[in-house]
Amino acid sequence: MPTLDLANAKPVAKAAAAGAAPAQALPLKPSLVGLDRAGLKAALEAIGIEGKETRMRVSQLWGWIYQRGAKTFEEMSNVSKHLRAALVENYTLDRPEVVVEQVSVDGTRKWLMRIPPSIAGEKWHEIETVYIPTRDRGTLCISSQVGCTLTCSFCHTGTQKLVRNLTAAEIVAQIIVARDRLGDWPGQEPPEGAFVPDDGGRFVSNIVLMGMGEPLYNVENVTAALKVLLDQDGLQLSKRRITLSTSGVVPEIGRVGEETGVSLAISLHAVTDTLRDELVPLNRKYPIADLLDACRNYPAASNARRITFEYVMLKGVNDSIDDAKRLVRLLKGIPAKINLIPFNPWPGSKYECSDWEQIERFSEIVFDAGYSSPVRTPRGRDILAACGQLKSETEKLRAKERAELMSKAEQDAFRAMSMVD
Ligand code: SAH
Ligand code: SF4
Repeated sequence: MPTLDLANAKPVAKAAAAGAAPAQALPLKPSLVGLDRAGLKAALEAIGIEGKETRMRVSQLWGWIYQRGAKTFEEMSNVSKHLRAALVENYTLDRPEVVVEQVSVDGTRKWLMRIPPSIAGEKWHEIETVYIPTRDRGTLCISSQVGCTLTCSFCHTGTQKLVRNLTAAEIVAQIIVARDRLGDWPGQEPPEGAFVPDDGGRFVSNIVLMGMGEPLYNVENVTAALKVLLDQDGLQLSKRRITLSTSGVVPEIGRVGEETGVSLAISLHAVTDTLRDELVPLNRKYPIADLLDACRNYPAASNARRITFEYVMLKGVNDSIDDAKRLVRLLKGIPAKINLIPFNPWPGSKYECSDWEQIERFSEIVFDAGYSSPVRTPRGRDILAACGQLKSETEKLRAKERAELMSKAEQDAFRAMSMVD
């Protein structure tokens, strides 16, 4: 049974109050956490490690950071004392700081993390990472940008201007932080009462790039980060268990598939260009036909590894029976599965979620045409952790507003545990 910890939606640091990241000094020493092998090599060379030794030292650091989750250089017992001292003097193993952790009634966890600005003197940035556990998998939804330059009309993140791209290391570090917080390193235990998979696998087993930002507008860093995640001597994630979701940056789709082989998800949401232009304005640049062509050519797709088409269910907007039929016709010939996402409301959003009966009717048509069409169960709505609800300003919702964002069942569970403040 997941524990509810909303009352403890704890500011982990005092400065966490309502999104106002205070001016803070930039870190004096760089962290090695999240770097790829080339980055570690450069860091070692900068402190005088040369020649053959570098390769060996890179693999040692790699193992400590990515297999064991080391937090100090002191514990690196196979690294010489002299080098450990040099590492302590010049670098850290700091992770992004978790400023708020929230745990939903359903066990979903959302971490608000703080990362330094790219320019000294600017405010620190905040990003959100969400952990969604089930019995047999733990999915981590990670962010690729602070905010998003795109402005999909149903997405909360879209209302926040892009602040900056995340570095590859900051993308990787979200997985490290999740493993830290969940005790998902060899010899560690999950926090008491935490909901984690109990199938004997890793607590973080799957990654979806469905957090804040458009991953293919930060394609270099995202690709570099994916390579670190996929390294079998390190974090050991499987390309089949990583899904990159894009709103349709057509020119980059093939490239990321070739370089990483991860699974692809497309935020389709509409079956005509007129409507998609409105919902996903990037469609004006890359219309549906071009997007579907890129999908047909996606190197990592096959009948065994289908492309997921995400379709947010908006009442009276894109949820008619005709829409469902057209969707099926559009996807003909593409190894596809269709993921229907009940719209998750956010303060100020102009849409409503389709009625449940309509979602079922829609899903049946898709299913009868031979496509798997699971309806994505909204997770973590009470803590604004569901799809499209992420926004890094921690907007402090009043209990009433928060309750309005939850389903009846969620509200009942929530009340039963007397956690509404
Ligand atoms: N920028 C990428 C990935 C992040 S969004 C993309 O657009 O694909 C992850 C998914 O959540 C996308 O399918 C997005 O369309 C969907 N989404 C955004 N806002 C939503 C909302 N309010 N309710 C349900 N799904 C939403
Ligand atoms: Fe950006 Fe994706 Fe939200 Fe669109 S749906 S605004 S691309 S995060």
